[in-house]
Amino acid sequence: MTYKITALPGDGIGPEIIQGSLEILEILSNKFNFDVEIETKDFGGIAIDKHGDPLPKDTLESCKNSDAILLGAVGGPNWTDPKNRPEHGLLGIRKALKLFANIRPTIVTESTAHLSPLKESIVKDTDFIIVRELTGGLYFGEPKYFDENQAVDTLTYTVDEITRIAHVAFQLAEKRNKKVTSVDKENVLSSSKLWRATLDNVSKSYPDVELNHLLVDACSMHLITNPKQFDVIVTENLFGDILSDEASVIPGSLGLSPSASFGESGPSLYEPIHGSAPDIAGQNKANPSGMLLSLAMCLRESLNQPECAQHLEDIVFSTINEGITTKDLGGNKSTSEVFETIKKSI
Ligand code: ATP
Ligand code: MG
Repeated sequence: MTYKITALPGDGIGPEIIQGSLEILEILSNKFNFDVEIETKDFGGIAIDKHGDPLPKDTLESCKNSDAILLGAVGGPNWTDPKNRPEHGLLGIRKALKLFANIRPTIVTESTAHLSPLKESIVKDTDFIIVRELTGGLYFGEPKYFDENQAVDTLTYTVDEITRIAHVAFQLAEKRNKKVTSVDKENVLSSSKLWRATLDNVSKSYPDVELNHLLVDACSMHLITNPKQFDVIVTENLFGDILSDEASVIPGSLGLSPSASFGESGPSLYEPIHGSAPDIAGQNKANPSGMLLSLAMCLRESLNQPECAQHLEDIVFSTINEGITTKDLGGNKSTSEVFETIKKSI
C-alpha cells in the first residue's frame, strides 16, 4: 500500500522545515519498508500571491484525497487584507475536513528541562497531551451577535459532539499511561454538566483507563505547578485554546512542540505549534524539531508506523541531548545541519 501525503510548506520558515522533513520521510520509508507518495501544494500567503486564494481548489482536492497532511506554517506581515488572510486557509481546511479534535503533546526530557521558564524539577519528565474539541462551543454556538447595548455568544455542546472527542481522548490514553483528565467548569456551566456526565458514560467503555475531572481554573494552576501528573487532558474548545497556549510555555521553546488535528474519518493534519517566524525566515535558523515530531505523530496515527515514529522521536531527542541544536535551544547549528545529523542517525 502506498500512503499519499499532501505537503503544505506555506510561509516564512514553513518551506525550510518541510523540505528536510520530507527528505527524512523518504529515508524512513525505505528503512521501514512502506511507500509514500508526496504531493506539495501552495497554501497560505504564497497561495494568495500566486492564486489569490489561501486555499486553492487544487490544494483542497489534494488534501481530501490524501492519507495525511503535513503543514509547515502560514502567515506573516506581507498579507494585510483582513478579507483574504493566509490563516483563512487553515480555517477552510478544518471546516472542509471536519477536523474536530486538536491534539497537542507537551514533552520535557532531562536534556530540555533547563530551557523551561519553570523550575527544572517541576517540568522534567513531563509528558502529556491536550485533546481540544475544535468545532463546537462558544466559537460557533448560535445565537452570536453584538449591538451597541449587548453582545451574545452561546456555549453549546451536544452529547454526540462530546462523545466523539471523549473517544479520541480515551483511545489515546489506552496507548499511553491510561489516565484521562477531563477539564470543565461543572460548578457553573450547564454545558459542563453535560460534558462531565458524557465523559463518565464514555469511560465505561474503557475500563483500563482512569478518569478524573478537574475544574478549568484549578487545571490552569496544576499545569504549571505539577505538569507531571497529567497523561491525557480533554476539554472543550475555549478551555483547550487557553490551556494549550499555557502548556506551550512549559518546554521553553516554541520550536519543539508538534500538533495534530483529526476528523471522524478522512485525513488528519499535522503541524508544529509555532507560527511562520518571519523574523528568522530564509536564514536557515529555524528549529525543525516541532515539524519532525509532527511527522512522527503522522507516522504513528495516520501511516500506521509506530516503530518508525518512535525511531524518529528517539533521534530528534537524542540529537538535542547531544547539543546539536538551533539557537532557540541554546545551540549554534543551522536548520540544515540539524537535518543532516538526523538523516545520518536514521
Ligand atoms: P502565529 O501568529 O502564526 O502563531 P506568532 O506571532 O505567534 O505566529 P511565531 O511565528 O511562532 O509567532 O514566532 C514567535 C517567536 O518564536 C519568533 O521570535 C520566532 O522566531 C520564534 N520561533 C517560532 N518558531 C520557531 C522555530 N521553529 N525555531 C526557532 N524559533 C522559532
Ligand atoms: Mg501564535
